[in-house]
Amino acid sequence: MKKMGLLVFIAALAAGFFYFDLHTLLTLDGLKSGLAQFGAWRDDSPLLVGGAFLLLYVIVTALSLPGAVIMTLAAGALFGLLWGTVIVSFASSIGATLAFLVSRYLLQDTVQSRFGGRLKAFNEGIAKDGAFYLFTLRLVPIFPFFLINLLMGLTTIRALTFYWVSQVGMFVGTLVYVNAGTQLGQLESLSGILSPSLLLSFVLLGVFPLIAKKIVDVVKARRVYAGFSKPKSFDRNLIVIGAGAGGLVSAYIAATVKAKVTLIEAHKMGGDCLNYGCIPSKALIKSAKVAHQMRHAENYGLNSSEPTFSFKKVMQRVHDVISKVEPHDSVERYSNMGVDVVQGYAKLIDPWTVEIQRNDGDTQRLTARSIVLATGARPFVPNLPGLDEVGYYTSDTLWEAFAKFDEPPKRLVVLGGGPIGCELAQSFARLGSTVTQVERSARIMGREDEDVSKLAQESLLQDGVILLTSHSAVRCEKDGDVKRLIVEHDEQESVVEFDALICAVGREARLDGYGLENLGIETKGTIVTNDYLETLYPNIFAAGDVAGPYQFTHVAAHQAWYAAVNALFGSFKKFRVDYRVIPWTTFVDPEVARVGLSEKDAKDQGIAYEMVRYELDDLDRAIADSAAKGFVKVLTVPGKDTILGVTIVGEHAGDLLAEFVLAMKHGLGLNKVLGTIHTYPTWAEANKYAAGEWKRAHAPQRILNWLEKYHAWRRG
Ligand SMILES: Cc1cc2nc3c(=O)[nH]c(=O)nc-3n(C[C@H](O)[C@H](O)[C@H](O)COP(=O)(O)OP(=O)(O)OC[C@H]3O[C@@H](n4cnc5c(N)ncnc54)[C@H](O)[C@@H]3O)c2cc1C
Repeated sequence: MKKMGLLVFIAALAAGFFYFDLHTLLTLDGLKSGLAQFGAWRDDSPLLVGGAFLLLYVIVTALSLPGAVIMTLAAGALFGLLWGTVIVSFASSIGATLAFLVSRYLLQDTVQSRFGGRLKAFNEGIAKDGAFYLFTLRLVPIFPFFLINLLMGLTTIRALTFYWVSQVGMFVGTLVYVNAGTQLGQLESLSGILSPSLLLSFVLLGVFPLIAKKIVDVVKARRVYAGFSKPKSFDRNLIVIGAGAGGLVSAYIAATVKAKVTLIEAHKMGGDCLNYGCIPSKALIKSAKVAHQMRHAENYGLNSSEPTFSFKKVMQRVHDVISKVEPHDSVERYSNMGVDVVQGYAKLIDPWTVEIQRNDGDTQRLTARSIVLATGARPFVPNLPGLDEVGYYTSDTLWEAFAKFDEPPKRLVVLGGGPIGCELAQSFARLGSTVTQVERSARIMGREDEDVSKLAQESLLQDGVILLTSHSAVRCEKDGDVKRLIVEHDEQESVVEFDALICAVGREARLDGYGLENLGIETKGTIVTNDYLETLYPNIFAAGDVAGPYQFTHVAAHQAWYAAVNALFGSFKKFRVDYRVIPWTTFVDPEVARVGLSEKDAKDQGIAYEMVRYELDDLDRAIADSAAKGFVKVLTVPGKDTILGVTIVGEHAGDLLAEFVLAMKHGLGLNKVLGTIHTYPTWAEANKYAAGEWKRAHAPQRILNWLEKYHAWRRG
């Protein structure tokens, strides 16, 4: 309401300006003809006229009315170069800031809440370099003054910064115009003020800070190399450390574009995903799911039976699966591609030199123009008293260790309610362990919306997992062969006895032991990089889990493209990593898949959204598969079919998500999803029905009412 009042007030002032023909005064001819009269008033009371002029100037610019240029000339003609410049310099900056504030007050919330997600990178850019860009715009008077005020109001730049940068930035332009005003008599037209050569000077002036910044960047970049002597030539174009998803893809890209590249891996090719992460966990999940289906075979009209199996064989299958995928990441495959694969531990010696402690015992030094660090992450082990004494497993150790067991652990504790903890807890529960899962916060999978956690929780409980949410692990105790975990809830301690304990409370980037400290490469939980994945040294890049902010194989591979391309071709063109559409899936049963915003994210970030939800118990295929559980939830821009985020809970959710990932990536809305033929009866139809829900919610009611009347009339 207040905003409406302000808008009406501004509109009234603007209308008055035009109604009383004030705009005709603010032309070159109007100014020239009125100059004698204004001059006489000024002579009578210079202070009053000077003050009134300043006020009028502020009003004209604050209301974004046309005429600021003429008033600047008038200032020169009436008050001379010095006072004219002083008056205009302050009046234009104050007026510009008022226009900026009005625009901010009226529109910024709407713009930021509507487009906040997509403006995130822009806002970050403004926070970092906004003053600098504004200064450049202000220096060159060819950018419309009022437009800069209004647009800047929509950004997140601080008002005070806007004021002083405007005042400083506009000074030279003001001087030129005020000076032109002092010779008003000789001035034939406004275009006469800015001769082509003067205009060029302004453009050069505007470009100057950009060039200066570039030079500063180059000097800064050079400074970090001070004290190191750069090799005259290099053994390699690129050295990649770590052969997980991030390192493999970096090396692959380098070899594809014919660069000479060495890939160094200390342990197993394929990194965590192949050997300790995605692949073994998904193989285990499959066996556990089959066991679950046998136990619930009555759902399919068959006799349910308690699965009998050899746990050793289940774990053997896990290792067989790893072996079958292994060739994709093998030394042979990468060597055949032209990658020089070295097995050994790499250490940065200087920004171009890597020393390798080869697994065959030799030490080797190699130099490269660029280096990609793709050293990954490892399980985080909490500092829990007694943990070392009772012994524990992590994703790094459990696959080997459990493969030796004849039976799954009878009583298994899983510490952690995140994706890895949930996947493992459910799998081992389905394979016969009595699993107690301990999570400090009030719900599992806390990154997702509450309705998602609720469904996942129900599912784990049905599988027999004892879920201790809002429970903190306090300490472990060992009494002979008896192992205990002490947990605390509501300030009350309780005891969980166990045979094996898995730590799945998160993963920490590998940051030590390979020279980051010696080179002073900054780390904050992960290696600190800029938007191009450059570390402190612009020729050293980081990708994957070690760079964050995500910890997924597909994100590591995505970043690897940027790291490798920027490393090899950055002197010509650098690419900022694009994190706009990042999907992920947690492979609990039913699966949980997400891309873009959840409701929680949208609320936390103050982004306006509409939500539609399609329940999978309505889907024919889900009913036929006796798996009618879950939903597709889509967040859209209010009033539009633009997708802000999708969460799917259900069978095949990870695969179903792909359609929305594609849609978001390429700016396709729900109408396009709805207009696409989906095979009947498939799970993919759920996506179309979710789009249908959106369409129904946005049906044009008024037209439908008219159509109802029309059909009634047609029936006679
Ligand atoms: C149980 C589990 C399940 C997971 N499930 C999924 C999933 O379903 N989907 C998904 O997308 N992600 C999943 N992840 C995450 C995924 O495994 C990681 O995001 C991915 O492995 C990151 O790849 P990376 O290349 O960054 O690092 P890594 O795969 O960790 O590779 C880094 C490599 O660098 C090597 N290295 C480190 N330092 C040196 C050195 N100085 N010299 C030489 N070599 C070095 C290491 O030995 C390692 O092999 C899972 C993780 C776990 C633990």
